[in-house]
Amino acid sequence: MALETAAPLASTRVPYEVLTLPPASGTTRARAGRLTTPHGVVDTPQFMPVGTNATVKALDPDDIVSTGAQIILANTYHLYLRPGHERIERLGGLHRFMAWDRPILTDSGGYQVVSLADSRVIDDDGATFRSHIDGGTHRLTPETVMQIQEALGPDIAVAFDHPVFPSSPRAEVEDATERTHRWAERSLRAHTREDQALFGVIQGGLEPDLRARSTQFIASMPFDGLCIGGLAGDETPVERALALDVVIPVLEADPRPRYLMGLGSPRDLLEAVHAGVDLFDSVLPARVARTGQVWVPGDRLNLRNAAFLDDPRPIQDDCPCLACRRFSRAYLAHLFRARELLAYRLATCHNLTFTLDFMTRIRTAIKAGVFPESLTELRARAGRSIRGQATDEPA
Ligand SMILES: [Zn+2]
Repeated sequence: MALETAAPLASTRVPYEVLTLPPASGTTRARAGRLTTPHGVVDTPQFMPVGTNATVKALDPDDIVSTGAQIILANTYHLYLRPGHERIERLGGLHRFMAWDRPILTDSGGYQVVSLADSRVIDDDGATFRSHIDGGTHRLTPETVMQIQEALGPDIAVAFDHPVFPSSPRAEVEDATERTHRWAERSLRAHTREDQALFGVIQGGLEPDLRARSTQFIASMPFDGLCIGGLAGDETPVERALALDVVIPVLEADPRPRYLMGLGSPRDLLEAVHAGVDLFDSVLPARVARTGQVWVPGDRLNLRNAAFLDDPRPIQDDCPCLACRRFSRAYLAHLFRARELLAYRLATCHNLTFTLDFMTRIRTAIKAGVFPESLTELRARAGRSIRGQATDEPA
C-alpha cells in the first residue's frame, strides 16, 4: 500500500504554527514551532518534565520555572487513584491544586495500566486492574479516561490507548494497535471540553506496516496533536529511528505537533528531533538526579563518588541553575552521602536545567538554519544515551 500524507484537519484548541520548516535538501526533518495553549506558549522542540503526582519530585513551582520549563506532564492514572480527579476538580482543577499556572498535559493512563497496575485484564471495552497503591479494583474505558482528564483540566489531554512493549510479538502489537484505534474514536466522541486539546496516540510497535497504518488512521482523525506511542521502551536507537522513518514521512504535510512519549536522555532527544519530533516527556532527568547522577556537557558525573568530596567547583561552570549558582560539588557529594533532602532538589534542578537548555540550543540551531551542521557539536554535548528509561516507578 502506498503511503499517502494524511490530510491536515483544522483545529483551534491549541493552535500550532510551524515557524521553521525542514530544509528542502532533506538533510534533516527537524522543525521549530509554537504551540499556543490556554495557559501559555510552548516553543518546540520542547521537553516536558514529569509531575507524576501533581508535583515534579522535590521541586516547587518556582523551581520548575527556574529550570526553563514551559509545560509539564502529569499522570492521569496516578491522580485518578490518588487523590482522585473529582477531588481535584472540586479544589479548582489541576493548575490551581498544584499552583502551576503554565501549560499542563496529562497522559492517557494506558501506559501505567500496562506497566504498573496488577492483574490487569484488557478487553475491547476497557481495562480492569488492581491499584498498585491499595489493591482496589478499578476500570478505565476511553469514556472514563476523558471524564477524568476533563475534570483534572489540563491544557492537553490524551486519548486512551493500549500500548505494548516494542519487542512484543506481532500478533500482540496488531491487536493492541487495532484496539487503540477503536479507543481513539471513542475518546474523540467522549471528549467535550472546548478549552482543552485532545491528542491521539499512534501505536504499531516496530512493525513498519502496522506503524504506517496506525499513523494514517490516527492522523485522519480530528485530534489536535499526534502522540507517537510504544517507543522509548526496550527498542534499540536504530529500531526507534526506523519506526520514526515510517511515521514522520506520513505526517510530513500535517500541521499538528508530534509528541514522542517517554524519551528523555539528551542524545535520544537530539536524534528524535532530527527525525522530526516536536515534543517529549520523561522522568529520566529527575530520576537519575535523585541517584546522584548529574549531566554536564559530554559527560555524566556521579556525585556519590569520593572524588567529589573535596571538589569546590560547581557541577557545571556556566549553568544558571539553583545548584550551580550557589553550591559546590563537594557540598552536593556531602548531601547525597548524608541522604539530605536538599540533595534531591538541587540535583533535579540541575538535570532539568541541563535538558531544557539543551532543547533551547536545538531550537536555536533549527531557527538559524544550521541544525544539521550543528549535530556534531550537539551530539558531543549530549554525551551517551541511556537505555531502559521508560519504566515508570510506582510513586
Ligand atoms: Zn546546574
